[in-house]
Amino acid sequence: MAEEPCQCSDCQRFYKEHDRLIREFPTFKRQQELNWASIQSFRTLCSKVTHDLQRKLSERESDECINQEEKHISDSEITEALGELESVNAYLYSIEALMERIFDTKISNNVESKFKEIADELAPDPLNIDRLMLNRLFHQTPDFPDKKNIN
Ligand SMILES: [Zn+2]
Repeated sequence: MAEEPCQCSDCQRFYKEHDRLIREFPTFKRQQELNWASIQSFRTLCSKVTHDLQRKLSERESDECINQEEKHISDSEITEALGELESVNAYLYSIEALMERIFDTKISNNVESKFKEIADELAPDPLNIDRLMLNRLFHQTPDFPDKKNIN
């Protein structure tokens, strides 16, 4: 029994992006590079923001005179974000360790051709089942009420 794919705007954006990443990175090696760059850029951005927020918070603690513009993020907002970002940074670090293992894998040219061939078949299909299963992980449904409460 085929499940009807969700057509909300988040899911449609996901389908489109998923296909694009297969189309534009259609080999094992390109996917390795893409995912490595993706993890690294996410980590870089998260840790820079974390450091910036930490600096802001410690500046406020040492200085009572803060202008209004600086206060557009409240102290509690910063503290809460720092807690969340700390977890995210730890998760990203774990993912990076796993990605390193994936990076150790080398694929022969013949198998790379197979990747390319399959990528060409997969990407134009808007209802690909693998993608739909993947998407369930990202999409909030009543079955997965609130991922933030799962630790
Ligand atoms: Zn949806």
